[in-house]
Amino acid sequence: MTRRNVLGTVGPVAAGERRLKRTASGTNFARYEFGDLTVVALRDGHVDMPPSRLRQAGDRPFGSDLPAQVNLVDGQLRLSVNVFLVIDRDQTVLIDTGAANAWLPTMGSLLDALAEAGVARESIGTVAFTHTHADHVHGLVAADGSDAFPELQRLLVPQEELSMFDEYERLSRFRPARLPFGDGFRLSDSITAVQAHGHEVGHTAFDVSSGGETLLIWGDLIHVPSIQFDRPELTWEYDADQAHARSTRQKLLERVARPGEFVAGAHLDFPGVGSVERAGQAYRFLPL
Ligand SMILES: [Zn+2]
Repeated sequence: MTRRNVLGTVGPVAAGERRLKRTASGTNFARYEFGDLTVVALRDGHVDMPPSRLRQAGDRPFGSDLPAQVNLVDGQLRLSVNVFLVIDRDQTVLIDTGAANAWLPTMGSLLDALAEAGVARESIGTVAFTHTHADHVHGLVAADGSDAFPELQRLLVPQEELSMFDEYERLSRFRPARLPFGDGFRLSDSITAVQAHGHEVGHTAFDVSSGGETLLIWGDLIHVPSIQFDRPELTWEYDADQAHARSTRQKLLERVARPGEFVAGAHLDFPGVGSVERAGQAYRFLPL
């Protein structure tokens, strides 16, 4: 495969040189290696939502004019719920935690996925949240009520969302432990927080870099991959600030649509890892 940049010339990362590689996979996980890092995509499950959550300009839902390209399963939008683990030498960082048994029975597979991937829960020393919505935070507590990550040392919560985190009674035991962080915070030598506000007031992406390549773990930048790459102006009912979510999505899509850049999304179809390329005025997702 030849990879071309927007000018149509071969970019710096040419065929055969893409170093982010999938090295193992199973039902609930996919493992990737790049540079000195290992990244594991983990399946927490999925959530079905009515197509009316997708919004056009002016916060208007589609009706009978829903574009045919929107993928529906039994009339619903099916959003994967993905969690990402980054192993950076001696540090193991989990980005988001899924929903555990706190929302719908179609979610809560994270601990099974970790076991299938051969990752001990005890190895996870840092959990960082992209934002504090229920499908991202409840996995701190296992379905049996125990701590999901018994050796947790750092619990990183976007600074704008501390009070939102504190509203979860089910997670109350973690209130004294949470550490606020903001744009530019370095979680490790290879992982840096990138402000991506809009979907939520503290929504954050994580830039993971090694060997000249970057993987942007972007949380909820895209909810409906079948159309939001093609039409990034479309928003989501649950975007706290739709205009800001739209501009952040457009800005980050423009940034990652380059050779050597990869993305990982919480709601891209599992395993949710790939690259983005320009397609006219819009974008296209290329799953890895
Ligand atoms: Zn989400």
